[in-house]
Amino acid sequence: MTTSVVLFTRDLRLHDHPPLRAALDGSDTVVPVFVRDRAVDAAGFAAPNRLALLADCLRDLDAGLRERGGRLIVRSGDLVEEVCAAAGEADAHDVHMAADVSGHAHRREERLRSALEARGRRLHVHDAVTTVLAPGSVTPAASDHFAVFTPYFRRWGEHSVREPLAAPRRVRVPGGVGSEPVPDRGDPAALSPGLPAGGEREARKRMAAWLRTGVFGYADRHDDLSGDATSRLSPDLHFGALSPVELVHRARRAGGEGAEAFVRQLAWRDFHHQVLAARPHASAADYRTRHDRWRTGAAAEADTAAWKDGRTGYPIVDAAMRQLRHEGWMHNRGRLLVASFLTKTLYVDWRVGARHFLELLVDGDVANNQLNWQWAAGTGTDTRPHRVLNPTTQARRFDPEGTYVRRWVPELAGLEGRAVHEPWRLPKAERSAYAAYPDPIVDLAEGLDRFKRARGRD
Ligand SMILES: Cc1cc2nc3c(=O)[nH]c(=O)nc-3n(C[C@H](O)[C@H](O)[C@H](O)COP(=O)(O)OP(=O)(O)OC[C@H]3O[C@@H](n4cnc5c(N)ncnc54)[C@H](O)[C@@H]3O)c2cc1C
Repeated sequence: MTTSVVLFTRDLRLHDHPPLRAALDGSDTVVPVFVRDRAVDAAGFAAPNRLALLADCLRDLDAGLRERGGRLIVRSGDLVEEVCAAAGEADAHDVHMAADVSGHAHRREERLRSALEARGRRLHVHDAVTTVLAPGSVTPAASDHFAVFTPYFRRWGEHSVREPLAAPRRVRVPGGVGSEPVPDRGDPAALSPGLPAGGEREARKRMAAWLRTGVFGYADRHDDLSGDATSRLSPDLHFGALSPVELVHRARRAGGEGAEAFVRQLAWRDFHHQVLAARPHASAADYRTRHDRWRTGAAAEADTAAWKDGRTGYPIVDAAMRQLRHEGWMHNRGRLLVASFLTKTLYVDWRVGARHFLELLVDGDVANNQLNWQWAAGTGTDTRPHRVLNPTTQARRFDPEGTYVRRWVPELAGLEGRAVHEPWRLPKAERSAYAAYPDPIVDLAEGLDRFKRARGRD
């Protein structure tokens, strides 16, 4: 009787799971393990919203395994010690897991490989599980990664994407391997009230609905803030409840301009992953320094607090920040404009914004969050690093009727049409009816000036 361990990390699914398939093909029984990694928690990633979705995913994975005759083994602590212990208890020779990109993931993988080898066991790391293509498989001639998206995407599109794998019919798990209880969501009071349900089954329903209808309008409507016409699959991709490989195949099969535009966004996800894999320090340090001396001190802190609370006096910024708090998610156009507002108009360090996002975002991850923040701040891969998004212009363009703002900023719900975007322009008598809503904390022209001077572009 041979046994293999499958270590689940950010790939919490049964469909299209190469490590699980390899383990099932190579042995009689399989030990599916998830370890709540103490080091990830200690680094500040244990945000309640994400822990809740993680619990949903683990429960669903356990249920899916039980339907197939198995179960999930859950441990917590040092991942390397726990995996070695589980492999020892099951007398498993091989351990299979998905490749990952962060500095922590790389170090952890190396530690695990050595620890297993010291015990006569072997680690197998599988690519294209959490990304469509393996980071490092698409590279320019003179570098280990692409620093600009457009040429990356051209080359990315030329590569073939492996075929997705079916979910297994049966998973035989040996007895004698101890598990903690599968966690539950925790205290609902700590969670964003509009948090979605997670787990592979929910994710597959969302994917099916999206590919049946939503994707066809995506090319035209993905920036429409009030239309809410994006897939909302980011949490499912973050936890790996959905396979990005399967999504690409299914979107391409659906066909059309919308599907093409959607696949392009999945390539953005791969793009940021390949940048982080090659430059792990970009999670905390500028990818390209602009020698910023970000604002600090009481005034900057007060501005940041207003930004976090959705009380900057710019309704579109505030609407997006309130959506984040309420749903643990924000529309991409909202993320772009609030990030530009914080880092450029208020000239506050992108790390401050990235940290706040990670405290709330249900899809928050190192590659996509940190590198998108850097992109927005102009310290990353943006080819126009000094552009500043004007929130009022953005509001008129992407929320022309003001519907999105009225949804999230109830103090202004009485204002019709686009007047809702500029309450400071109301005649004094009328403005007083909306006194619960603050005046702008910064003059846009002054903010722009300060930023230009800081970047030496005045
Ligand atoms: C400041 C900032 C922070 C961000 N932080 C995160 C984060 O922590 N996690 C995260 O998944 N995305 C992040 N994004 C990217 C993007 O905003 C979200 O992926 C998207 O809004 C999720 O909604 P959706 O699933 O409906 O996306 P859709 O528009 O339906 O796109 C489909 C998928 O493509 C991927 N995608 C889309 N846009 C991007 C992008 N710009 N970069 C990388 N992947 C992308 C996502 O996986 C998304 O689910 C951030 C963007 C900005 C500007």
